[in-house]
Amino acid sequence: MKKLTTAPNLAIATLWADLLCHAGVPTTVQRAYNSSLAGQVPPDQTLPELWLTDADNFERAERLLVELQHPVSRHWMCPACREMIDGPFEQCWNCGAAMP
Ligand SMILES: [Zn+2]
Repeated sequence: MKKLTTAPNLAIATLWADLLCHAGVPTTVQRAYNSSLAGQVPPDQTLPELWLTDADNFERAERLLVELQHPVSRHWMCPACREMIDGPFEQCWNCGAAMP
């Protein structure tokens, strides 16, 4: 187990952990319910943490997290149907063709 990062709240921690798990990086949320201790312990100790099951995944997990926090926004034209595609999509929503 290795600590990856601290999340600002439980919803974001759960979202990040789900996305990392789906990307093949087993991640668990620790201190999920410490927010109930707010006011009794230092504030940074009440935030949920993301922990990697396998410490070898640390660099990959950090890269994935940066991508999650800064989604790539693109603007491209589908080579098959000439539809304009906005956002982080790598496939045409109209015909399913891959981004060139
Ligand atoms: Zn298309």
